Amino acid sequence: MLGRYNERPVDEVADQSILAIDLGGTQIRAAHVSPDLTVSCRRALETHDEEGVEAVIDRICAAARAVREDAQRAGLADPVGIGISSPGPLDPWRGVILATPNLAGWVNIPLAARVEEAVGLPAYLERDTNAAVMGEWRYGAAKGADDVIYVTISTGVGGGLVLDGRPLIGKDGTAGEIGHMTVDIDGPLCGDGQPGHAEAIGSGRAIAREGRALLKRGEAPGLAALAADAEVDAELVARAADAGDAACQRVLDSAWVAIGAMCASLVNALNPEVIVLGGSIGCNRPELPSAIRAEIDRRAFPAPAQRVRLEMTQFAGDVSLIGLLPIVNERMTDPSYAKEHA
Ligand SMILES: [Zn+2]
Repeated sequence: MLGRYNERPVDEVADQSILAIDLGGTQIRAAHVSPDLTVSCRRALETHDEEGVEAVIDRICAAARAVREDAQRAGLADPVGIGISSPGPLDPWRGVILATPNLAGWVNIPLAARVEEAVGLPAYLERDTNAAVMGEWRYGAAKGADDVIYVTISTGVGGGLVLDGRPLIGKDGTAGEIGHMTVDIDGPLCGDGQPGHAEAIGSGRAIAREGRALLKRGEAPGLAALAADAEVDAELVARAADAGDAACQRVLDSAWVAIGAMCASLVNALNPEVIVLGGSIGCNRPELPSAIRAEIDRRAFPAPAQRVRLEMTQFAGDVSLIGLLPIVNERMTDPSYAKEHA
């Protein structure tokens, strides 16, 4: 059954330690994850994708081997397999990164097979947000729920879905790409070239873009003062807004409305019990949950709007690493992920 996880009770804790790797546009993180959710023997290094695919793969493999050796020295259980979370789109069944805008030159890269060969353990690849929803659903803020949406707001906007007690991957692995829902049909262009996606208005990248446009037009004096000795990113726009820059505040308000409208559409379409908020912006803007809640109440049907709980991520930056624990344990016995490519 392509695209489905093993049937397995929700409360059954994964039983074997894994080696977890999170590949991001700026950082590679690797760690040992135990069945009790302890994350140890951490390694973190910069991705430097401008040095080419092979250099990044070498760094990933070296980090994985180092974590395995550290774990052995520390007397921890040897990992049974490796989980790799990465930005999409990717093919989780073959373990291939198809083409990710966050990593220059990564087109059709069989990352799982390469890591497997270098480290000598079976490796499985999954989109970072799909790993995150698994972590929150199995062990965290959405434990016990059957219908869960994980929403990450950081440089981009992404998500993962669990519906009817089952992760939704999709036939092409793109299920849960909620940041590319259209919330403004004539809106600003997204990184994929399409107008008005939620990510094009509500992401850190979009907030920074609007901040730079304000500066250029001379419309954000507070931001201009801060930008004298710092690069304009979403955090700087937020700092200017917090310090009273009204134009920057309007940029943030629009961003939160876009995210809230996206969530309201998801509430109507999917009727989730829980929406879990994560990501560097999602975790750090205290006004965000109430802004999203207001848009859900305004735009969604009353019954699903009243039902849905809005929760903060329980595992924050470790959510993808922890979510790889059940993914690796389940895929090792799932024929859909059999290692015929190895
Ligand atoms: Zn898009």
